[in-house]
Amino acid sequence: MYVLVINAGSSSLKYQLLDAETLSVVDKGLCEKLGLPDSFYHHGLGDAEQIESLPLADHHAAIQAVLDHLLDPLSGTLASLDEIAAVGHRVVHGGEHFYQSTIIDDEVLAQIRECVPLAPLHNPPALTGIEASKALIPTALQVAVFDTAFHHTMPPKAFMYALPYEMYEQHRIRKYGFHGTSHRYVARRAAHILKRPLEDMRIVTCHLGNGGSIAAVDHGRSVDTSMGFTPLDGLMMGTRCGSIDPAIVTYLILELGLSAEDVDQMMNRRSGLFGISGISNDIRDIDEAAKSGDTRAQLALEMYAYSVRKFLGKSVFAMGGLDAIVMTAGVGEHSSAIREKIFVGLEGLGIVLDVKRNVEGGTERVISADDSPVTLLLVPTNEELMIARDTIELYEASRTSGDRSDT
Ligand code: ADP
Repeated sequence: MYVLVINAGSSSLKYQLLDAETLSVVDKGLCEKLGLPDSFYHHGLGDAEQIESLPLADHHAAIQAVLDHLLDPLSGTLASLDEIAAVGHRVVHGGEHFYQSTIIDDEVLAQIRECVPLAPLHNPPALTGIEASKALIPTALQVAVFDTAFHHTMPPKAFMYALPYEMYEQHRIRKYGFHGTSHRYVARRAAHILKRPLEDMRIVTCHLGNGGSIAAVDHGRSVDTSMGFTPLDGLMMGTRCGSIDPAIVTYLILELGLSAEDVDQMMNRRSGLFGISGISNDIRDIDEAAKSGDTRAQLALEMYAYSVRKFLGKSVFAMGGLDAIVMTAGVGEHSSAIREKIFVGLEGLGIVLDVKRNVEGGTERVISADDSPVTLLLVPTNEELMIARDTIELYEASRTSGDRSDT
């Protein structure tokens, strides 16, 4: 039996097919530029990796192409679609409804749809992916795994904004937090590596990719996180500004005459590392420019590391202590220079980076000094594995309870 993991973006669809027993990945791929004339499908592992130009009008067409590939008599993995026991869908926003991964039935679909205004760019493609998957693989159990769910444990003092209370009551304006599946995975993994129960530890997880967020994971529960009502808040990111004085927004609109859409575009697409450096949103390009003396590139890197450091500090104080910090995602896993900028100078707080371990090869590892009171770890994230695990767990539970009403 297999589990299919689907991550539907606005114009892309990523998938992984995993063996339900061993959780090993047997196939994976990516359909890109859906709806555009140059859409393509990239699939296969290792030597079998291939890119095909294919007309892919939408998510339905993309899932159909994936299934055709998986069922191909010569190169496919599956003899029949019945071998897919369950499909796990990444859904960005679960609002206040969902605090854990959930079997999708009509009511759940309606509740995900209700969250569309909270995540207008992310939830609609997830819904389209779910509908297509239900239509094309009707025998499989469909499961939703929410990016927001892990942060459901935040207390009101952390998730409320100091706006008039009715903004929360009537409009659900509050902090939700994102990247939850990644924070949950790397926190668990860190406890496993350190051979300590997660429930006994205070961990700060830093997911630093193109988007970035930090979570304070107190005894296994997220108690605060840097992203907020939307993924724009918190850290300086690739193209997003992160936390700024909210009055800047009204100033830009009222004094400079920008439209709300202009400001939204500016803060989401033209700010962050890109906005400051004027070069790129990619740390590698900025690093190169900084080394050749570009002062804006140097400033962008300094600001980025400082922003992470400040949110690290907030998380430690939120929990009242710290056992470990985990670095993950593109920047967190690969940029030793950024890690050094973040951690060097924090020795007085018990955070001692081992500069040599920091730059050594290898992936999952401890990068703090042996005598560092706080352990620093590098853990590659694996959201797909987490989605697959949750999906299989729900599949097994539904088989024992006989509850398959949604299929
Ligand atoms: P996303 O948030 O889109 O999933 P990733 O987690 O893949 O992104 O992170 C992408 C970012 O990671 C890039 O924009 C780049 O800044 C950084 N990155 C990736 N590889 C490296 C590397 N080898 N060295 C430094 N930075 C890297």
